[in-house]
Amino acid sequence: MSSPVAILGAGPAGLGAALALARRGFPVTVFEKRDRAGGNAGSFELADLRVDYGSHRLHPASDPEVLGLIRDLLGDDLLTRPRHGRIRLMGRWLHFPLRAGDLALRVHPRFAVGVGLDLARKLVPQARPTEETFATILERGLGRTICREFYFPYARKIWGLEPDEIATTQAEKRVSSGSIGKMLKRLLPSGAGTGSAQPKGIFYYPRRGFGQISDGLLEAARSAGAEVRFEAELKKIHSREDGTRIDFEHEGHPQSMDARHTWSTIPVTALAGLLEPGAPEAVRAASAALRFRSMILVYLVLETDQFTPYDAHYFPGADLQLTRLSEPKNYANVTEPRGRTVLCAELPCQLGDDVWSMDDAQLGERVVEDLGRAGLPVTCEVSEVAVRRLPHAYPLYPTGYQAHFDTLDDWIESVPGVLTFGRQGLFAHDNTHHALFMALSAARCLGDDGSFDPAAWAEARQVFETHVVED
Ligand SMILES: Cc1cc2nc3c(=O)[nH]c(=O)nc-3n(C[C@H](O)[C@H](O)[C@H](O)COP(=O)(O)OP(=O)(O)OC[C@H]3O[C@@H](n4cnc5c(N)ncnc54)[C@H](O)[C@@H]3O)c2cc1C
Repeated sequence: MSSPVAILGAGPAGLGAALALARRGFPVTVFEKRDRAGGNAGSFELADLRVDYGSHRLHPASDPEVLGLIRDLLGDDLLTRPRHGRIRLMGRWLHFPLRAGDLALRVHPRFAVGVGLDLARKLVPQARPTEETFATILERGLGRTICREFYFPYARKIWGLEPDEIATTQAEKRVSSGSIGKMLKRLLPSGAGTGSAQPKGIFYYPRRGFGQISDGLLEAARSAGAEVRFEAELKKIHSREDGTRIDFEHEGHPQSMDARHTWSTIPVTALAGLLEPGAPEAVRAASAALRFRSMILVYLVLETDQFTPYDAHYFPGADLQLTRLSEPKNYANVTEPRGRTVLCAELPCQLGDDVWSMDDAQLGERVVEDLGRAGLPVTCEVSEVAVRRLPHAYPLYPTGYQAHFDTLDDWIESVPGVLTFGRQGLFAHDNTHHALFMALSAARCLGDDGSFDPAAWAEARQVFETHVVED
C-alpha cells in the first residue's frame, strides 16, 4: 500500500489510528508537538512513582474491541481494581460509588428530606421550560436538592459557567442517568436494575500508570512501521484535490511531507488555523467562539506511606478550589516507594486567569489549605510540589456553542484529504476508550486502495454522538 497518512497528535486517538493503519501496511507518520506520547491520558515519573494527568481510569463500559486491543498490548499489566472513592457532600463523606447503607446513615438529614420532597414533587406534572439548558434537564430529572447541593456547584467549578448557561449537550454527555431512581441504580456498585452486563464498582488500570496504554500503542505502532516525530511544530497543512502537504519544523529544520490523508486529533480550532487555503471569515469567527476549559494539576510529594486508603476524593462544594484529589499509589495498588506517596489535585481554570497564573509554591499552599478545610489535613512533610498545566482539558459547552462547532465541522469536512477526530478534534467530552473507538472507526473507513468512505464515516459519527462520559 502506498497511500501515506499523516496523523496529527500522539494521544490515544492519534496513536490508535497509527497502529491500526500501520498494521494494515499503510505508511504512517505521526506529528506530536510535545516530547512524549499520551496527550492528556499520559503518565510521567515523579518521586519514583508513575503519576497521571489527573485521575484516569479505564472504564468497564469500554467497547469490547477497544478493551481487547488494550488487553493484547498490556497483558497482565491491566489490573482490575475496586472503585474506592469518597464524595464530600454538605460537609459529610459518602463512599463513591454510592453504598445503600452509606446513603441511609451518612447523608445530611437536610439532603435526605430534600430528595424525598423532590420525589414527591415529581408526582405532580410540571410544565416544560420554553428553553432547555443543562440546568432545566438536570433539575427535572434529578430534582432540586441533588442539583443545588451537588451537580450545580460541581458544574460551576469544572466548567466555570452557570448551569443555566450550559447547553443540553453537557447533560446528555455526562449525566446519563435521567432520573433520581436511574442515577442511584447507576451509581450503586451492583448496577442492579440497570440491565447492564458491565461489571460495576470496578475499573481497569495499567500497572505502570494510565499512560501505559498510550506507551503500548506507541511501541506497537512503531513496531508495525509507523514513524512518530515528537517535538514537531506544524506550520501549515495545504489541502489539494489529490491530498495534503504538511509544512513543519523538526529539530530546528523546516520540512515538508506529502500525505494522501491528514488525520488530525489536535484541537479542532488549531487545525482550522493551520489549513491552507484558509477558512472563510464566518468559519474563523465560529472557531474563535469555541473555548476549552483548562486545568492545573498540583502534585504534592508526601513523606508518608499513604495519605488515605481512597483512590479519589470528589469536592463539589464551592468552598474549595479543587474538584478532585487522587492518590496514584492507590490506583495501581503499589507499596513502593516505601515512606512516600503523591497526591494529585485538580483545579479547573481558564487559560491565563488568576489560578492559571499562580506560581507552583502558591498552588501547593492553596491545595494544602483546601485539604485542611476539607478535613484532610496534611500533617507530614511535603518534600516537593510539582505542577502541570493542561490548556485543553475539557471542551466548553455554553448554550449556542453547537452552531459554532457545526459551522467549523462542516467546513473541515469539505476540505479534501483532511479528517478530524478524537476528544480535541471533535470537541467531544469523552473518555479514552471513546477516543480509541473513533480511531479504530476511522481506520475501518479507509479502504485497502487508500480511498476513504465518507458514508461509513458519517455513520460512525452517529455512534460517537451516543457516547456518555464516565468519571
Ligand atoms: C482531568 C481529566 C481526567 C480524565 N479522566 C479520564 C478517565 O478517568 N478515564 C478516561 O477514559 N478518560 C479520562 N479523561 C479523558 C482522556 O484524557 C481523553 O479521552 C483522552 O486523552 C483523549 O485522547 P485524544 O488522543 O483524543 O486527545 P489528547 O489526549 O488530548 O491528545 C491530543 C494530542 O495532540 C497533541 N497536539 C495538540 N496540538 C498539537 C499541535 N499543534 N501539533 C502537534 N500535536 C498537537 C497534544 O500534545 C496531545 O498529545 C480525562 C481527562 C481529563 C482532562
